[in-house]
Amino acid sequence: MALTDSVRTLPGIGPKKAELFAKLGILTVGDLLRFYPRDYEDRTQLLPIMSLEADTPACFIASVVSTPRTNRIPKPGQKALEVTKVTVADHTGRLNLTFFNASYTAERLIRGESYCFYGTLVGDYLGYAMTNPLFEPLSEPGKVTRCICPIYPLTAGLTNKVVLQAVRAALDTEPAPQLLPQGVTEAYGLCEADFACRNIHEPSSHEALEAARKRLIFEEFFLFSAALSIVRQKRTLQEVEPFSDLDLKPFYEVLPFQLTGAQSRVIGEILGDFSSRKPMSRLVQGDVGSGKTMVAAAAAYCAAKNGKQSALMAPTEILAKQHYDRLRPLFESLGISCALLTGSQKEREKKENRQALAEGVCDIVIGTHALLSETTVFRNLGLVIADEQHRFGVAQRAKLMSKGISPHLLIMSATPIPRTLALILYGDLDVSVIDELPPGRKRVDSFLVDESYRARLNGFIRKQAQEGHQTFIVCPAIEEGETESLKAAEIWAQTLKQTVFPNLRVALLHGKMKGAEKDAVMQAFAAGEYDILVATTVIEVGVDVPNATLMVVENADRFGLSQLHQLRGRIGRGDAKSYCILVSDNQNAETKQRLKALCATTDGFKIAQEDLKLRGPGDFFGARQHGLPTFRVASIANDMTVLKQAQQAAAIAISNNDLPDELLHCVHQLLESGEFVMN
Ligand code: ADP
Ligand code: MG
Repeated sequence: MALTDSVRTLPGIGPKKAELFAKLGILTVGDLLRFYPRDYEDRTQLLPIMSLEADTPACFIASVVSTPRTNRIPKPGQKALEVTKVTVADHTGRLNLTFFNASYTAERLIRGESYCFYGTLVGDYLGYAMTNPLFEPLSEPGKVTRCICPIYPLTAGLTNKVVLQAVRAALDTEPAPQLLPQGVTEAYGLCEADFACRNIHEPSSHEALEAARKRLIFEEFFLFSAALSIVRQKRTLQEVEPFSDLDLKPFYEVLPFQLTGAQSRVIGEILGDFSSRKPMSRLVQGDVGSGKTMVAAAAAYCAAKNGKQSALMAPTEILAKQHYDRLRPLFESLGISCALLTGSQKEREKKENRQALAEGVCDIVIGTHALLSETTVFRNLGLVIADEQHRFGVAQRAKLMSKGISPHLLIMSATPIPRTLALILYGDLDVSVIDELPPGRKRVDSFLVDESYRARLNGFIRKQAQEGHQTFIVCPAIEEGETESLKAAEIWAQTLKQTVFPNLRVALLHGKMKGAEKDAVMQAFAAGEYDILVATTVIEVGVDVPNATLMVVENADRFGLSQLHQLRGRIGRGDAKSYCILVSDNQNAETKQRLKALCATTDGFKIAQEDLKLRGPGDFFGARQHGLPTFRVASIANDMTVLKQAQQAAAIAISNNDLPDELLHCVHQLLESGEFVMN
């Protein structure tokens, strides 16, 4: 058996169970070994019978003092109920055990022998008793008692026991993969791979579990760093023809405003890249509203002047359309042709645009995922721009880049990744920061309120409308299994329209609507046809509505701080004073503090740093949207020191050509999984 074999090769796993394992993302034996417990139950403490507490599961050693007796209680039309009773005792007391439908197991208990039990004491009017405890002879090593028991994330139909049995079978037949060179294991005082794999699943002690975790964290980061270096090496081997025409004056002349100092500086950095032989890999970070679009436009203009096509990929149709509407007049006044390509366009229109791209008639294309389609072909793609990059899978970006020969890459992100993190995670990207907002922006005042403010809040919304201004109301996404107290956008919009604001015009926007439908609502709102827009976070990125002065976020505790900050960036774009109101009834002190911190600052980077500290990178970027790798054991926020060590070790191992084959295999898997930062 090999790590790449299907889990079906393990004893006890047939097609049905294999399907359940697949639901958990476990296809191979290797996947199973890397499927780590989400928690552990500590059963290492042994208590005397007298000290057992009701309703608290515990382990105890006792000898059997009666012969197990089974009664069968007939049930009409059903199998009889088997009740087995047996009494056990230690030097502190006696306890009656009852087993239901487990006579076969219970009758293995032999009078006079000692066993270790694990169960929960329950009390009733007859005194205390215990039902269906787990037990093992004292002479055998503890597998369900006297151990630290793993608890796996499960799916319906799959029990913890089944997972554990499968893991044991895999551990018995397959040595753990060797991902680290032996020298690294020794240099960093790590335990052996096999030990780590066994003890992360079934720790023999707390110390063993710690040692196992330490190695696995190191391994994950080592793998990640090695993959990053390999990608980087590939990219630095590429060569491009430097752009010769770097004169942007004509572009600046058609702009309706003067660029900020920060925008000019970043454009300068981009031009520096364009004039070198290495393809650009640059991340531009700038707070919401800092004017990233114009920086991207300047880059695209420069590429066009040098005979190269550019593709600007936006995460939503609304955003792509907005970019297009804003930029096309600029480009066309400069004699540069610009097209839009989105999924909801008519087939004929798409076809025409694609043809223009293939023939090189079109210089700049702005679009959505439609850009990725096989039928989108470029004549001479020289620059790929990904807007709001955290919204894209990395694989999608790579796909777009593969449509050109070593194109330059520019990534625009309003999610301010803290500098320390960016340096490590995007070690292969140059980072530019737009740390200045265009002049005339007004500070948005933010407040945290609870339900007791509802009436006042409604009054405030009414007042905005009376003054001719508009309000966004954002609700958490409508998702399966969410509790009903959440103000799902759809229901909330209904309530507002019918009972709370019958005299105001209320619109609804959510992610499940079709692109064209969303567009229509958004455009109508931007045109002032509605007073209130109830929405999910689909409005988080992009669209400009300068007349909107109020942002209300319902169940604000459900959002990440950075996400709230993005939402807040939707307002304060016009001349009037703007407000952001976070509504939350959550009483958790930490949550309240988090939300208050957001109200107190407008610095996106500070907020991001805070968010990262509190929630970890996964939540920070919104579940699985961040384009960052996901780690199983390691946490980017907490294990930064290990990350640095692993990075050093990987660099040395690569330069010594000392990467184990199994690691290289994993690197390939990682790169192909699309979960990885590939630039
Ligand atoms: P973001 O960085 O969030 O993508 P945008 O590029 O959408 O920001 O810019 C936000 C708004 O600011 C737009 O309306 C844009 O036209 C305007 N803008 C950008 N740069 C400047 C500038 N230098 N001076 C004045 N307004 C600007
Ligand atoms: Mg933008």
